Amino acid sequence: MTKKAQNQTLFYKNKINGNHVTYKSLDDFNNSSHVLTKCQIVNNSDFLTNEKNGSNYIHCTSGSTGTPLKIVISGLAESFRFAAKMRFHKWWGVHFFEKNILVWRIKGKDDNSLSFINKLIMMFKNRLDIDVFNLNDKTIHNYVKKINGFNAKFIRGYKSGLFELATLIDRNNLRIESDSLKVAIVTSEMLLEEEREFIQKIFNCKVANEYGSAESGFYAAECEKGSMHINEEIVYIHVDEDNNAYVTELYNDRMPLINYRNEDQLVISQDFCSCGRTSRIIKEIKGRNSDVIKCQDGTVKSATIFPFIIRDALNESFDGAIYQFRFVQKADDQFELDLVKGPKYSEVMSSLIKLYFHKEIGDDISFKINIVSYIEREPSGKRKFFVKKAD
Ligand SMILES: [Zn+2]
Repeated sequence: MTKKAQNQTLFYKNKINGNHVTYKSLDDFNNSSHVLTKCQIVNNSDFLTNEKNGSNYIHCTSGSTGTPLKIVISGLAESFRFAAKMRFHKWWGVHFFEKNILVWRIKGKDDNSLSFINKLIMMFKNRLDIDVFNLNDKTIHNYVKKINGFNAKFIRGYKSGLFELATLIDRNNLRIESDSLKVAIVTSEMLLEEEREFIQKIFNCKVANEYGSAESGFYAAECEKGSMHINEEIVYIHVDEDNNAYVTELYNDRMPLINYRNEDQLVISQDFCSCGRTSRIIKEIKGRNSDVIKCQDGTVKSATIFPFIIRDALNESFDGAIYQFRFVQKADDQFELDLVKGPKYSEVMSSLIKLYFHKEIGDDISFKINIVSYIEREPSGKRKFFVKKAD
């Protein structure tokens, strides 16, 4: 892939300035200074794209991290992504083309943003689509009726989408009557153990987590023993001493992204999984580098601390206490929490959230809780638990 990139794309030709870079070992590659940032992709997308190689597919990222990207994927890379997804579904006892429910941003499904896989699924009409922007107390009755009559084998979507669907079902005293669902697949957002348990309870099936990105592939999938196995046949991932991840999708020679710093922080385990699969395991996805906060004592923390503050404050009463939340940083020393409360929410919880917030971020930081009726989603359909907003 590195040779192809140097021979076939202007970006890498210019980068090496006529001198071919060769890697003698993986360590050599891992320590290479030739890394690619998201910004470089945006500024050089034409130079990174190689027009010579056969068929291609276009993927667009949502821009939820502030940088929308348009990526060209080779037919072979797209097929490998597809194959890895099919294998992941088999681990959970379902086939990719079986009846399923998708909880996603459904608007715009007639445009070219649909992937090859999604177009195929739509063709088979084996999917019930639920638009995350249309989930509310009025629409939930009809959705549940449709779900109960559809007999889907699996449900897949943004974690916040599945969590919101489960919350609405619970809040409206509805039930998933069908026992056909074998797995609920969540993607794109951080999953807390308590959220997993709640989704499992409402849909009466296991929850499986997947991890990937539109730009550089399907990185990892959770096995039935709970480990996130890296799809090592199609993607190479390594981390530096600060846990920053660098990803290379191995078959996308249409737009090679080599040592791409995807802005996630990962911990890769040294252990093997008890399921018997020998691929490496991602022990922890620590979150986006861009979502970091500077604490009062000068330390820097990942914004992933925020869901844990909520979890610790709710303790055993997670279920039915908070429906939605979002921390907002308005200035360096000013934070707010927008919160949609459930029937089990109490003032004690507010006090505990404040206590844990100040303990983690600093005593002199301004922090207030706003009780709101709804928290808007990003245009992509995801719901961020932390945003920075200038005054
Ligand atoms: Zn495993």
